Amino acid sequence: MDFEAVRRRLLDERAQRQALAERLRREEADPVEASELSKVDQHQAELGTETFERERDLTALAIITDELADIELALRKLDDGSYGICEECGKPIGEERLAAKPWARLCIVDQARAEQAVRRR
Ligand SMILES: [Zn+2]
Repeated sequence: MDFEAVRRRLLDERAQRQALAERLRREEADPVEASELSKVDQHQAELGTETFERERDLTALAIITDELADIELALRKLDDGSYGICEECGKPIGEERLAAKPWARLCIVDQARAEQAVRRR
């Protein structure tokens, strides 16, 4: 595996997500938009759309924040030599899976198991 290429990709993905998170937080904190929302003459349907978009942005921000944490972890693993090893079973995660998601923490088997456990909750 080309660890330098992986590191560059992770840094690139991190930069993209940081920029996006920054933009979403700015929109969230924008007081102009908040005052727009309180205008009495605003149509109810538009209000619903605004609320939906706000919730969608918050969901996106939560996903991006999670991914950023995983990317940071992957970068630390590159440094300590544990990159590409499944956290559950200790086997290699597999290059194909890492190519699709370079910050993957689990192999495909353990990932499926973890997702099933979440659904059962
Ligand atoms: Zn595993």
